[in-house]
Amino acid sequence: MSELYRYFKQQKQLHGDTLYIDEEVLHRAALAAQGLTEVSGAVTETWKTAGSLSELDAMIRECMNCALGESRNNVVFGVGNPAADIVIIGEAPGAEEDKKGEPFVGRAGQLLNKILEAVQLKREDVFICNILKCRPPGNRDPLASEVEQCEPYLHKQLALLQPKIILALGRIAAQTLLRTNASLTTLRASVHTYQGIPLMVTYHPAALLRNPNWKRPTWEDVQKFRALYDNIRAQDGS
Ligand code: SF4
Repeated sequence: MSELYRYFKQQKQLHGDTLYIDEEVLHRAALAAQGLTEVSGAVTETWKTAGSLSELDAMIRECMNCALGESRNNVVFGVGNPAADIVIIGEAPGAEEDKKGEPFVGRAGQLLNKILEAVQLKREDVFICNILKCRPPGNRDPLASEVEQCEPYLHKQLALLQPKIILALGRIAAQTLLRTNASLTTLRASVHTYQGIPLMVTYHPAALLRNPNWKRPTWEDVQKFRALYDNIRAQDGS
């Protein structure tokens, strides 16, 4: 719809008042361009009404709520099992992810698969996404304003998924989600809560590629993560 709004605006500039566009149609296209919709006179953010992950994905694909919308190739919504108990969250897409529209592809993605296999999990068992859905240029850290704009989409994803547990990958993801400056070492040492869901922290696979010495502590983290997950399932009888 934002395409439609841009088209209307362009046509108005070209043809001025000789072009008649129904005000109601223009109004609705303008709202849609901002990701808004109007139901019975009340304006709401369209994506908040999504009833499934695929619907939400389609609704935010043209998002321009922060400047990253200008430079991205693709919104990287996330992939995986829509009925997953486990959600894995990184900070933001990298260059490969931006190109393919999928999180954790390339070497870091392959390593993530191996980490999951170490605790008898497959990629199809989990849902994988990032805090930011668009790539920050040069892979810089997310800005607070970008997180503020984009994190509500993550909240909505979690509301739709209703996972039992979250694994945050890397210092930036963990610090951003938990609103803390604590070190990764400190954050790995305990179980946290995000949006009411238990959350554990480990290294980002891209960091492990740079520093293989961190593979051992990562292995230990995911063993603890698996044990907590099994414990939660045992408690709720699933
Ligand atoms: S990063 Fe998030 S808020 Fe910013 S344009 Fe992309 S989807 Fe929209």
